[in-house]
Amino acid sequence: MRIAVLSDIHGNLPALEAVLQDARDLDAIWNLGDTVGYGADPVACMDRMAAAGPALTLVGNHDLAAIGELSLAEFNPVARLAAEWTQRRLDTRHVDVLRRLGPMTVHDDVTVAHASPRSPVLEYILSPATAQDNMAAFTTTLCLVGHTHVPAIYSSAVTGERLESSSFPPGQPWQLGMRRAIINPGSVGQPRDGDPRAAYAVLDQERGTIELRRVDYPIIDAQKRILAAGLPESLALRLAHGR
Ligand code: ZN
Repeated sequence: MRIAVLSDIHGNLPALEAVLQDARDLDAIWNLGDTVGYGADPVACMDRMAAAGPALTLVGNHDLAAIGELSLAEFNPVARLAAEWTQRRLDTRHVDVLRRLGPMTVHDDVTVAHASPRSPVLEYILSPATAQDNMAAFTTTLCLVGHTHVPAIYSSAVTGERLESSSFPPGQPWQLGMRRAIINPGSVGQPRDGDPRAAYAVLDQERGTIELRRVDYPIIDAQKRILAAGLPESLALRLAHGR
């Protein structure tokens, strides 16, 4: 099986469409959460994912905020405005879909969590030290996380050694092997690593590899939709910078 690993779509329909087109030959989709929040098309993104085929779907902090199950107190003002806007857009059916999802599971012998295995909704894994602190919180060899919007690989060269971060350039399959690893596919809808292209990863179970992909999409369309929706301008501007 070749699996498209998507995370942090964040209501960006033009980015999602481009990624699904790029991933059309793959066998399954794993969505690590935050399908909604920030972008102008939360409902359309949820419907598009539901129609896209066999999918594993997690719930993220922005999804939970949008259905009133996570306090907005921790959100910055822009994120809070976007969450409140998204709350008003979701109908009962979409709220029910999100309410049934969990933020972490084990699937096909892979741990998948929105944020981190020890704190699946909120913790940002942005360093080898934080990744290391999470190793005792899961038992599989591989763990996939989203939430930071930054593609990353944390792994040990030899089992039991301390984790290091590996470079994760697009288009270069990374050999998983027997070593334990925490890997982040980046964000479809709001990349924050300085590359504005949509990000996702391809997990190839037969080959034992994971490959980052970056996909061009009409950023200007996503920006126009954000502005037309009355969402904060900064959410549109950042898409052009990938920050
Ligand atoms: Zn997110």
